[in-house]
Amino acid sequence: MHCPFCSTHETKVIDSRLVADGHQVRRRRECSDCKERFTTFESAELVMPKVVKQNGSREPFNEDKLRNGMQRALEKRPVDTEAIELEINKIFAKLRATGEREVDSKLIGQFIMEGLKELDKVAYVRFASVYRSFEDVKEFGEEIAKLDQ
Ligand SMILES: [Zn+2]
Repeated sequence: MHCPFCSTHETKVIDSRLVADGHQVRRRRECSDCKERFTTFESAELVMPKVVKQNGSREPFNEDKLRNGMQRALEKRPVDTEAIELEINKIFAKLRATGEREVDSKLIGQFIMEGLKELDKVAYVRFASVYRSFEDVKEFGEEIAKLDQ
């Protein structure tokens, strides 16, 4: 990579270590020309598929939207923040694992439901009641029935 100070092409790595829990490589580099040092961070490019909404329009995947949706469902529930983050990361991984350039917004909703189901039944039903389509009403009713037990 080019030196940010003098733009020469020759830089060498003088130190390299894993950071961010192994998700990034931090490299200390030195310019062979001007001898300035600088740091680069390298991480895998996490390409999320575009989201196809019900009306057929496309929008970029929105991490905040997903997180907010889950948090709304989990409001005032006794669920660990760390556990929520883990579940969110699982959803990201699932989406990337599809290998698709575009995914249906329904699929994301389904992944969120699966995640919430793991975390908290009440949050799951809250989310499902807003999200789920009528064809699933029977199953939805069964979930609510389970909560009353
Ligand atoms: Zn330089």
